[in-house]
Amino acid sequence: MPRAVYARALIIFVRMEQLVLASNNEGKIKEIKEIVGGIELLSLMDIGFNDEIAEPYQTFEENALTKAMTVHRFCGKNVMADDSGICLNALDGEPGVNSAYFAGLPRDDNKNLQKVLDELQDKVDRSAYYKALICLIWNGGVHYFEGICKGTIVKERRGTGGFGYDPIFVPEGYDKTFGELAPEIKNSLSHRGKAVSKMVAFLKAQQ
Ligand code: IMP
Repeated sequence: MPRAVYARALIIFVRMEQLVLASNNEGKIKEIKEIVGGIELLSLMDIGFNDEIAEPYQTFEENALTKAMTVHRFCGKNVMADDSGICLNALDGEPGVNSAYFAGLPRDDNKNLQKVLDELQDKVDRSAYYKALICLIWNGGVHYFEGICKGTIVKERRGTGGFGYDPIFVPEGYDKTFGELAPEIKNSLSHRGKAVSKMVAFLKAQQ
């Protein structure tokens, strides 16, 4: 390999190993690490970042960009941040960007999930979709990757896998909830899986 090409490949490899994941959500971090494979991700803890990052915006894009920029300014490294949520068609897309705090503060996944069940109690339309939006800051450029996973909300929680709303979400084409399905199946179908796969394809194309 010519020296310049080799050097560039090496730099990309080093940068891949230094990709920071701007999240403190254990469930998300675990899933993203499983999907990304081959790229070493650094957590916020790894880089000594301990602050909570506010997510004040009403779009996934703005929240993901804010998280990525905040962490990038802190460490100067390449960073990926995701903002995600569940959108209920009967509620015009709510809770959407407010999914983590749908039932108020402090954040409580069980209360959030129960609130969705309560809100949908009298609704005929139980269709929903998860959305994930990744903002990647890569060599000074800003890139976005989106993933959508459509499905339905069941009437009672089932399964203990995944996190958040997974025990009440059945992905299209399946009859089990994400709480019941194996993690590999969730990752192959999920909004986050799709967005991360697009990001990985982008990173590979940089080599
Ligand atoms: P944020 O992206 O950290 O603002 O929070 C996203 C919130 O959306 C999570 O706290 C969950 O409540 C919900 N959420 C996002 N992705 C998933 C998922 O894959 N399974 C279950 N809940 C999710």
